[in-house]
Parts: sequence; C-alpha cells; structure tokens
Amino acid sequence: MKNDFYTVASFEYTAEAQVMKGKFMSHGIEVFLKDEHTIDVDPLVSHAIGGVKLQVHLQDKEAAITLYNELREYEVDKHRVRIVCPNCGKNRIIIAPPKKSMLYLLFPFFEPKRYECIDCGEIFKK
Ligand SMILES: [Zn+2]
Repeated sequence: MKNDFYTVASFEYTAEAQVMKGKFMSHGIEVFLKDEHTIDVDPLVSHAIGGVKLQVHLQDKEAAITLYNELREYEVDKHRVRIVCPNCGKNRIIIAPPKKSMLYLLFPFFEPKRYECIDCGEIFKK
C-alpha cells in the first residue's frame, strides 16, 4: 500500500502531540497521530518506537512544515534562554533525532542530548 502520509514531528508524550494537533486543526490542516495508543498503554516504549508521530497528508506537507516551524517551541537552557547555534548563531534549535544505535535502544537515558539547528543543520551537544 502506498504511504500517503508525511511525518512532521514526533513527540515523547501524547499530551504534547495532542496540543500540536489542536493547533494544526485550527489552521485547517488535518493531522493524524501515529502510535498514540501504543504509548498511552505503555509510556516506556515511547523512546524505543520513536514517540508519537504527528502525520499529515502528503499534499499538506509544505504547509505543515512551515506551520510547525512557526508553532514549535525551541530549546532553551536552564535559564529559559534560547540555545544558540555554535555554527551560525541563530536560535531556532531543536532536539536532534537520536542515533539509532543498539546501545541507545537499550539505554536511551545514557545518550546525551543532541541539538540541531533548523537554519544550518548543525548538530551539537551542550
Ligand atoms: Zn546554525
């Protein structure tokens, strides 16, 4: 079967995904949450299966990415100051997707947080 969906983002917790879904719906973009129920039943598997995926129809992909980049919350440090990219100096920073190593799958909490710059794609640790 053809996959007609595009995954815009994934969330560790269902609640976060629900909030974003509501914002998308209010902008007229239909959204589907994948693996939502699996994670509700067993939150501990969230890391292993990559979280709750927020998906849209393929024809909404561009609009969804633009909207998501406006709505999403960017990473802040412990003083609630937006983290700055060491490469380009901009501050639209997100958590980078984890490396899918066997160690990570077994012990996700040992993996240090990696950040990714939306503007230049730089991946860095803090
Ligand atoms: Zn950058």
